Amino acid sequence: KAKQAGRNQFAVFTREMFDQAQHRLTLSRDIRQALDAGQFHLVYQPIVELESMKLVGLEALLRWKHESGYMVPPQEFIRVAEETGMIGRLGEFAMRQALSDLGRWKALTGRPPWLAVNISGAQIRESDFAERLSVMLHEARIEPSLLHLEITEEVLIENLMRNRRTLQKLDGIGMRIVVDDFGVGYSSLAYLKNFPISVVKIDRGFVQDLANDPEDQAITRTICSLTRDLGMATVAEGIEHPEQLALLRSFQCIHGQGYLFSRPVEAPRIEAMLMESVDWTHLMDS
Ligand code: C2E
Ligand code: MG
Ligand code: MG
Ligand code: MG
Repeated sequence: KAKQAGRNQFAVFTREMFDQAQHRLTLSRDIRQALDAGQFHLVYQPIVELESMKLVGLEALLRWKHESGYMVPPQEFIRVAEETGMIGRLGEFAMRQALSDLGRWKALTGRPPWLAVNISGAQIRESDFAERLSVMLHEARIEPSLLHLEITEEVLIENLMRNRRTLQKLDGIGMRIVVDDFGVGYSSLAYLKNFPISVVKIDRGFVQDLANDPEDQAITRTICSLTRDLGMATVAEGIEHPEQLALLRSFQCIHGQGYLFSRPVEAPRIEAMLMESVDWTHLMDS
């Protein structure tokens, strides 16, 4: 009887695995077709300087509107793109689109915000990543310091030595390296010293319950002062409530990002914000 149950379990397991593989195969084929069909686009989320409450940066975030009308969550298609080798093409698409939008905003305003683009591990591992990016920047006539590369802590430490060389090249060209989702990986703090990091993004998980959780307050306050002492900037992610903002301002956190300021929006909305020199000073003494 036990044997039978065991066998059934095994059968269920393989069936699930099969479904998953099938699902991935479908998604990866869909990603290729969707790229050709123009179903991917970028949205942008403002990053605010908390002292002045002005817009100083933008994060580019990929969106996939499937032909069925379904918005496929980025977490899902990014992972599949990584697993199926499609991330190279997808990442290149995002980078080109982002640089082209930034070029337009530069022409429009003279002094555009910086632009943060998320980079996956597979992209960083390409041996000519820095060189190719450098060419793209040159073609788009964008100064390298306007481009921030967001790399998760996990990916950064995955392949320490190799990543370090690439990061040093990118930093040497003048691009800014950002540690995304800081604080959730099992990392040592030493890499902050050994890698050329300009910005640290405090993971949304620490900001979420900030108003009610003294431990999250302690961690967040410490990250802010540590990065400040190391000469780096900090961005707090996922600010949704005025109480979170007030605390982060009291910790002298440099930058913030979250629905309280703006959700990720389409490029024309960003253009309007830039034209009217949007700010969030009305949230200042809340
Ligand atoms: P991430 O880089 O940490 O991006 C921040 C995510 O938090 C975004 O989710 C954003 O919409 C969301 N967010 C911002 N403010 C708030 C807030 O106040 N509350 C809440 N609940 N969420 C907020 P999104 O757009 O779904 O992207 C999820 C993840 O997918 C990103 O996390 C990033 O890891 C990945 N991703 C998105 N676009 C790209 C891309 O072009 N390339 C790569 N490699 N990864 C990307
Ligand atoms: Mg990011
Ligand atoms: Mg993040
Ligand atoms: Mg995140």
